[in-house]
Amino acid sequence: MKVLVTGGAGYIGSHAVYLLIEKGYDVVIIDNLSKGFESNIHPKAKFYQVDIRNHNEVNKVFESEKDIEVIMHFAGLIVVPESVEKPLEYFDVNTNGVWNLLNIAKNYNVKSFIFSSTAAVYGEPKSIPINEDDEKNPINPYGQSKLSAEYLIQSWAKAFNRQYVIFRYFNVAGAHENGKIGVKGKSLTHLLPLVISSALDLSKTFYIFGNDYETKDGTCIRDFVHVNDLVNAHVLGMEWSLKNNKSDIFNLGTSQGFSVKEVLDKSIETLKININYQIGPRRAGDPGQLFSNNEKATKILHWQPSYSLEEIIKSEYQFRKNNK
Ligand code: UDP
Repeated sequence: MKVLVTGGAGYIGSHAVYLLIEKGYDVVIIDNLSKGFESNIHPKAKFYQVDIRNHNEVNKVFESEKDIEVIMHFAGLIVVPESVEKPLEYFDVNTNGVWNLLNIAKNYNVKSFIFSSTAAVYGEPKSIPINEDDEKNPINPYGQSKLSAEYLIQSWAKAFNRQYVIFRYFNVAGAHENGKIGVKGKSLTHLLPLVISSALDLSKTFYIFGNDYETKDGTCIRDFVHVNDLVNAHVLGMEWSLKNNKSDIFNLGTSQGFSVKEVLDKSIETLKININYQIGPRRAGDPGQLFSNNEKATKILHWQPSYSLEEIIKSEYQFRKNNK
C-alpha cells in the first residue's frame, strides 16, 4: 500500500517514513526542503521536491503515483512566537496547504488523511489533564491555523466519504537510534534540544523561562513523548482507520507532566553532566501546565508510549552529540 508523507524530510515526518518502510509500506515523500533536510530522506522512499500549496506540482505527483491510499501530513510551520509575527504565512502553509492537498485528494482514491495537529489548539486549558473534547481556544496563530485545518479535514471527510485521524501532539522529543534523523538545524527552539545543547557545551547557558507559575516548583509543566512512540501511533491510527472505516481525534502524550526544572535536574542526573542555567523571564504565550489524557489513544488504537523521560533525554543526547 502506498502512503504519501508530506514533510517526510522533516523531524517527525522522517521518523514516520522510517517506520512505514520498516513495516513494508511504499512511501512517497513530498517536501519543499524549506525546513527539511535531504539527509533525512529514507533511501527507499520516492522523493518529490514539491510545495504542498502548489496545485499543479502536487497534482502531478498524484497522477504519476496513481495509487496513493493514505496521506500522512506533517509538512507545516511550528514555531509559536514566529506565528504571532507571521500569521499570514502560518495560515497559508498550515491551513491553505491542507486545503490544497484535500482539494486534489478528493479526485483520487485517498481513503484516509492522517494529520499532525497540536495541543496548542486547546489554548490555556481550563482543566488538566486535557481530554480531546475539551474546549478549543487557541491563543496564537499556530494553534489557530492547525485548528482551522482540523475543521477542513472533518468537512472534507464527511462530504467526500473519506476518513481521517487527527493527532494532537504534546511535547515531542528524542531521535531514532540510527543516529541519522532527529531535530536538525542551527536555531533550536524547543526545551529538550536546548537543554542537551547546554549539556554538551558549558559555554551555552540554558534559560528557564519563568519560575513564578502556579506549579509545584514554579516552572512550566509539559508532557514529553518520544518521536518513535509518536510515529508509531500514526501507523496504528492509519491501520485502524482503514480497517474499520473510521475517523477520530487523539491526544498523543504520556498523561504525565514534568516541570522544566525537573527535566533539567533529570538531564543532569541521567547524563552525569553539569548544565549552566539561569532563571529568565517568562516567555509570552506559555500556558503554565499542559499535559494530556491519552486514554483514548491507548484504548482505541492500543497505543502505549514506551519511552520514559530518562530514555528521551538519553536519546536526545545521543543524537545531539553526533550532530553538533
Ligand atoms: N523552555 C524554557 N527554556 C527554553 C525553551 C523552553 O524554559 O530555552 C520552556 C518553555 O517556556 C515551556 C517549556 O519549556 O514552558 C516547553 O517549551 P517548548 O518550546 O519546548 O514547547 P511548547 O510547550 O511551547 O510547545
